[in-house]
Amino acid sequence: MTILHIDGLDLRYATDAGPAAALTDIRLRVAGGEAIGIVGESGCGKSTLLKAIMGVMPRNATITGGAIRFDGTDLVTAGAEAWRRARWKGIAMIAQSALNALNPVKRVGAQIAEAITAHETWPRAEVEARVAELLALVGVDPGRARDYPHQFSGGMRQRVLIAMALALRPPVLLADEPTTALDVIVQDQIFRRIRTLRGELGFAMLLVTHDLALVVENCDRVVVMYGGLVVEEGTVADIMAAPSHPYTLGLYNALARPGQRHQPISIPGRPPDLVDPPAGCRFAPRCPFALPRCHTEAPAMQVVSDGHAARCLRVAEMDTLRPTAALPET
Ligand code: ATP
Ligand code: MG
Repeated sequence: MTILHIDGLDLRYATDAGPAAALTDIRLRVAGGEAIGIVGESGCGKSTLLKAIMGVMPRNATITGGAIRFDGTDLVTAGAEAWRRARWKGIAMIAQSALNALNPVKRVGAQIAEAITAHETWPRAEVEARVAELLALVGVDPGRARDYPHQFSGGMRQRVLIAMALALRPPVLLADEPTTALDVIVQDQIFRRIRTLRGELGFAMLLVTHDLALVVENCDRVVVMYGGLVVEEGTVADIMAAPSHPYTLGLYNALARPGQRHQPISIPGRPPDLVDPPAGCRFAPRCPFALPRCHTEAPAMQVVSDGHAARCLRVAEMDTLRPTAALPET
């Protein structure tokens, strides 16, 4: 059952250099309870996509086409009021770099309570009980509700943010790089907790990360973005067995390198200029397999197998090309 359906979404930012095509024809169906990882290097549009779904775009952003259907309503055409109703109760977000978003002069419990009372008129005792329940749920001693954020470690602050996002039991959680600021051990603890919470509460999750390894461990499906486009989509198993866009192959090979796990992706070259994107495939200027026509023909998504597709003109040859891809330079 599809709970969230993004259908042909286009978004532009107004910039001094002209309109920047930050999202182009994004199509994504999210089934209730499933976890989708959105990966891609810095600037490919991951946060823009989550902010668009949440309806919290910056002022210079305009959705120029497409729909965001949640629970049967297209939020793009329904507008601000429908978005306000869906936000937090329907779709909640842990924003990128949110660790510093907690108010330093307010007790942690009071901040979680506010996440509830902004939307619900529950009696005070019920709110307090819920705050304690939420803290326990994310693995923080409820007795610490009276502490201030500075008395918490980074990992515990992140747990508090997860508790706030889940306060109203949303069926969809958007998580934008929820653990990048944390060390790997704390990151593992947080993700173990998120997996448990998903098992108990059953929410769907869109997890944005640079890190394909995190997606493999935590998600059912993968969406790979490049230059504002989805360039590959499939189950984790399909993508690990047969990465079929040369960009995904670069991410995959970076994974296979000892010591590269959890490191930012490094593929030679720069991401495309979104004000004046390349005429053909946006990845062609960096692609080891680009043919002359790749520089002039913009590829559509090509089916690899059922539920697995890649935006590459050479997708049918990928089984022979794949083994020839060099590991990225260190
Ligand atoms: P990162 O991994 O660094 O967080 P991202 O994939 O989340 O990157 P976005 O923040 O969505 O990328 O940015 C996508 C593109 O849009 C980038 O080229 C970025 O510079 C541009 N961009 C983001 N916000 C704005 C804005 N308010 N105005 C103009 N351009 C913007
Ligand atoms: Mg981002």
